[in-house]
Formats: sequence, C-alpha cells, structure tokens
Amino acid sequence: MITKSNNLVIIEGNLVPAEGAGEPARGRVEIDIATGLIVETGEARGTGDLILDDEHIVLAGIIDQHVHAREDPSGEEVYKESFQTAGEAAVNGGVVAIVDMPNNPEAPVDDQSYLAKKDMTAGSLVDILLYAGVGPGTSPLSFPVPYKTYMGPSIGHLFFRNEEVLRETLSRYRGQFVAFHAEDPIILEENAGAETHALTRPPEAEVEAIDLILRMSDSYGIRPHICHLTTAAGLELIRGARKKGLRVTTEVTPHHLYYDQDNSQAFSNPAYLQCNPPIRTRLDRIALIEGLRSGDIECLATDHAPHTLEEKDRGISGVTQLDTLGPFLFWLMEEGFDLQTLQRACAEVPGRFLGRYLPHRYGRVEPGYMGSLTVLKKESFTVRRSELKTRAGWSPFEGVTFPGRVSHTVVRGQIYPRAD
Ligand SMILES: [Zn+2]
Repeated sequence: MITKSNNLVIIEGNLVPAEGAGEPARGRVEIDIATGLIVETGEARGTGDLILDDEHIVLAGIIDQHVHAREDPSGEEVYKESFQTAGEAAVNGGVVAIVDMPNNPEAPVDDQSYLAKKDMTAGSLVDILLYAGVGPGTSPLSFPVPYKTYMGPSIGHLFFRNEEVLRETLSRYRGQFVAFHAEDPIILEENAGAETHALTRPPEAEVEAIDLILRMSDSYGIRPHICHLTTAAGLELIRGARKKGLRVTTEVTPHHLYYDQDNSQAFSNPAYLQCNPPIRTRLDRIALIEGLRSGDIECLATDHAPHTLEEKDRGISGVTQLDTLGPFLFWLMEEGFDLQTLQRACAEVPGRFLGRYLPHRYGRVEPGYMGSLTVLKKESFTVRRSELKTRAGWSPFEGVTFPGRVSHTVVRGQIYPRAD
C-alpha cells in the first residue's frame, strides 16, 4: 500500500516504457517528496511541476555501478573527489545513484570500516552504495554488501600476490556477489617493460584473468561480475561459462565503447586516455558495442576515476566520466541503440543490483520505485571543461559534440535543472 502525502512533485513528458511494453508516450509521474518514492504514474493531464515538450525524454534515473569517488575516513584522496563533488558531477551527467569502489587508503573490508565510510556518504546529492573490498585475509561482512576483488598490484593494498592466497580468501565468499578487476598480475609483470601502455597490459592479461575467475567462481560458489570488460575474447569466455550454467555478469565503460587504438589519436591529448584495462582495438570495441546492445554485457558503468590533470601528466591511469554519462547515451543512440535498451542497461539492470542492498527499489518508473529520473533533451551539446563538476576538472570527451544533453536530473523527487 502506497500512502500519498500532500507533498507531491508532478512531472509530465515522454516516458520510456520497459522493454517490450510499447513505445515512449506522454505520461505523468507523481513523486512523494517525503518518501522520495513514485506514488502514481498515468496519462498526461497538462498540469504539473515540470511539463516537458517532445524534445525531451524521461528515463528511469541512470545508475552508475562503477565509480571511484575517492573519499574515505583517512581523507587522503579527497583532493581528487569527495562524495559531495562526485554527487555534483553525477547530477550534472543525469546520474541519480552511484556504487563506489573500495580501493581507498583506508579500505572498507569489515563491518566497522565499511560503516565508517558509509557515514561519509550521507551528504551527497545522489544515493550511494559501497562495495566492500576483498583482500588477503578478509572475510564477508555480517550484513549484505557487494564485494570487489583486485587481482593485480598497483591498486592500494587490496591485491593478491599469488593465486593460492586468492583462492584461500575467495573460498570464504561462497554465495556472495564478487566483482573482479580482471587483469592477470603475472602477465602484467612479464610485460611491464613494453613500449606502450597498451602493450604493458595486453589482451591476454584480461582473457587469462577472466578464465581463472570463471573457474574459481564455479569451484567456490561465487556469483562473479567482470568489471570494465574490454576484449571480444573475454566476452566469448563469459558467454561460454553462461552456457555451462554459471551466473556471471559484466559491464562496459563509455571510454572502451567510444575509443579504440586508432580513433583515440583524434582526442586533443591521447595520453590522457590511459586507463586500466587499456583502450583496445576497433574489433574489440565493436564487439563491446554489440555485446551491450544484445544484453550479453548487462550494463554500462563508467569506472569514473577522478585523477587530477597533474596526475594525468604523470601518467596515472583512469578517466573521469560522471559529468558526461547522459550526453553519451545520445552517441549510443547514433550507434543504433533504442531508448528501451539504454534504460535497461543504465537504469533497470543496475537498479536491480542496488535494490539487493539498499532498502528501496530502483530502475523503473513505476509506483513503489525510487522517484529518481533522468530527463534528456535532443539539443546538440559540446563537452567543455568549464561545465564539469568533477573535482578532477577534465573529461575524455572534451570537445566532443553529442546530439543531446541532460535537461533535468530528478533525485528522490528533487528536481535539478541542467538546461532550459
Ligand atoms: Zn575501477
């Protein structure tokens, strides 16, 4: 039973239905400000707090399942980004909720450290779920959380020096959802001296790591999730494991969908596109686009890494993403994605993930779901550094013109206008 207070926010516009449920059509969403929940949806009546014309598209709010906000109890990396600035960048990009990664100087690896970090998220504009870290010797927390494992070195303290310790630790996580950064540390070590960044982290590093993850997950009853997939061969392994009955999911970033080793030279500063895993070949990129479209890659997730310009000049890997995620969806539309597919990959799938750990339902525009929406507008938009909210202050899409932009971001009924 959904109760309704007098504190309603009413939004009318073109609503995108779930896949298979018809075409976008004008409709009305009523959100209760007191609870933040949608209390009613129905036909448009021409009245409301926000009435959007046909240049606008109303989607269930975009959720980013892979963000590095960088704030933790140590405060060491808050110069990069805080939960507040990450929230501002998210709202700027049409993102209503984020899931934050645990590779902090003070990593959330047990009840106490997880709750201490969670306390810090309260002031953010968007909803935040935290991953807990899996590292040598850790065990599951006493309450349900998603877990993240780093196999290789160079990422804080949460990495494994050998497979034996990794196996011993993972055996404690039976039945848990565990996300993996899939790059084989031994292959990375063997190629450390190679000439280019891409050669230091070759595709085999990802493929071998995925192969090991899938085998271990099967042995230990883990529910694996492969983060930021970059290779066609890796996707094939995942498909094969599913055919054998393993429940495995994966995600892809906007930068691995948009850039490849050839077209990245057109970016004003190609060296800034350095990331882990690296930008791959055109053929890999096309396989990733098709994988996302078909649903074999379940969701779009950014791996937002807010390294500063000074750090980028020093060759630190990772790119910022939150500010530009909404406009990026228009590029995917140019690649032939329809709105329902985008809503599935950016709201519904990550929404189900959030709903497993947070006390609300996310990812659909239906009564009882969180009243968070992304409103897009068909209006050409060029990404400029001056309009970014990330503290990192730069974007891999600077200078890129997208055929659309974010018009409003609605979080729990609170409307944030981004454009007229
Ligand atoms: Zn990441």
